[in-house]
Amino acid sequence: MATDHKASGNLEAAGQDFIREIVKADLDAGRTKQVVTRFPPEPNGYLHIGHAKSICLNFGIAEEFGGRCHLRFDDTNPTKEEQEYIDAIERDVRWLGFDWGKHLYYASDYFERLYNWAEDLIRAGKAYVDDQSQDDMRAARGTLTEGGKNSPFRDRAVEENLDLFRRMRAGEFPNGARVLRAKVDMASGNINLRDPVLYRILHAHHPRTGATWKIYPSYDFAHGQSDAIEGITHSICTLEFEDHRPLYNWFIANLDVPSKPHQYEFARLNLTYTVLSKRVLTELVRGNHVTGWDDPRMPTLAGFRRRGVPPEAIRDFIKRIGVAKSNSTVDAGMFEFSVREALNKTSLRRMAVLRPLKVVIENYPEGQIEELEAVNHPDDPAAGARKIKFGRELFIEQEDFMETPEIKFFRMSPGREVRLRYAYFITCREMVKNGKGEVTELRCTYDPASKGGNSPDGRKVKATIHWVSAAHAILAEVRQYSPLFNKPDPSGAKNFSADLNPNSLEVLSDARLEPALVDAKIEAPVQFERQGYFCLDRDSKLGKTVFTRTIGLRDTWAKDQAKENAAR
Ligand code: ATP
Ligand code: MG
Repeated sequence: MATDHKASGNLEAAGQDFIREIVKADLDAGRTKQVVTRFPPEPNGYLHIGHAKSICLNFGIAEEFGGRCHLRFDDTNPTKEEQEYIDAIERDVRWLGFDWGKHLYYASDYFERLYNWAEDLIRAGKAYVDDQSQDDMRAARGTLTEGGKNSPFRDRAVEENLDLFRRMRAGEFPNGARVLRAKVDMASGNINLRDPVLYRILHAHHPRTGATWKIYPSYDFAHGQSDAIEGITHSICTLEFEDHRPLYNWFIANLDVPSKPHQYEFARLNLTYTVLSKRVLTELVRGNHVTGWDDPRMPTLAGFRRRGVPPEAIRDFIKRIGVAKSNSTVDAGMFEFSVREALNKTSLRRMAVLRPLKVVIENYPEGQIEELEAVNHPDDPAAGARKIKFGRELFIEQEDFMETPEIKFFRMSPGREVRLRYAYFITCREMVKNGKGEVTELRCTYDPASKGGNSPDGRKVKATIHWVSAAHAILAEVRQYSPLFNKPDPSGAKNFSADLNPNSLEVLSDARLEPALVDAKIEAPVQFERQGYFCLDRDSKLGKTVFTRTIGLRDTWAKDQAKENAAR
């Protein structure tokens, strides 16, 4: 699968967007010998589809231009980072089809070197220890329109700075007592250059370095230097880091680093009906709004995997949306298009009745069972055929029957003849109702001459419906998901819960599946004919089969939602 992707990527994707153009120009001009990129996640949550854009870009460029891509954990904030996230990120990058080979790194591997560079800056008079409180520092930082004020500690002597910084490292001071700042320019129009914090005191256990460190570098101080250590040639990140680039360059220019990487920014992915902020995703999990990071409603790679979305659908989607330099929001329907495309090609067809209505065929001999042939994939003869059992008692879909049919309803109704897929024509003769007047059973007759689905006299029926044999069907729970948010642009951090879709999960506990589905594998997609794409969920156990709907066949949800929004 990964090879396949590589082969097509070479031809189609090279030189397709402004970043690839930059890389190509650098290689052509000899400014870059071999392109080296990195994907630098902070292990404070699971990867989401926005990260997939960054992964496909960084790993994709390395593959297409004969370079390499590193996986580097940006693990500089031990209060939020966990081993579980590290493991999940590795699993998800691999699942997406990419491989970092031996190039797995951690910013924490560089803590000692980063520390020494900080001392270099102090010795050069370019960094100082600031004792101001956080509030005072914030007040002195100025605003977008007004410059900041110098700290009273800015002109501390080098020796005093060194002594204090070493004592910070030794753990002599409590959290927040002091910070190390770069001495850049408090009057700069770019707030990031107003003496940014390089180190803060944090007495916390780090997943990798344990209790060794009592101070931790800021993102800005760690990131560019990690790039330089690893020989990254093109450090590609999202647009919100554009204003950090002058600082990135300041560190590279003022430190004795082994290489001089450049930073390039692209627009992050935003999707309608979706929140891609790790903070919100974390709150969804912690607040039990979902069952976990891999809940099929989550926009995480783990969630998509569990939902049955194949990795090639995600890669295809990322390729289609391209890489641009201004932010925009992509219609979730575009993602669904890629998902349907991928699933349509590979999913075997099966029959499943989600809301069963019993059918008894009165003229079919009691106890008789016959086997009918059904194709596994209409466009792929190599997928072969299977035998399906037919008998006197069947289940059809409740919604395929209407006692009083509407004008355009051509399926089952009293007196009407329809085709049972792969089987026979049947005619509804009578309804059985319960005490509440609900139809609980249909009494039908079949035409033995219509075996296989055609009548010898050329008579037509207007509908073909799916069915399963009552005696042979597997009882299953089917979980149908719709988007977690009911607004195209859900509120972010503060108010997201107001926009949660209360009906994002529908559980059908009485579904009946054709017996071939005993062979279904977890996360492997199948198409339930006329219904959509589904996969076996890992909650299945002996005696309980659970299927998850990956996606419906058509995009009915978005249409309904548009209608509803228009009506509001
Ligand atoms: P947060 O959601 O809290 O802002 P983050 O998503 O930026 O965090 P990181 O782990 O730092 O978390 O992201 C790793 C890389 O993925 C970064 O280079 C970041 O620019 C990129 N990335 C994150 N979100 C998106 C997105 N929506 N689209 C494209 N790239 C993204
Ligand atoms: Mg980030």
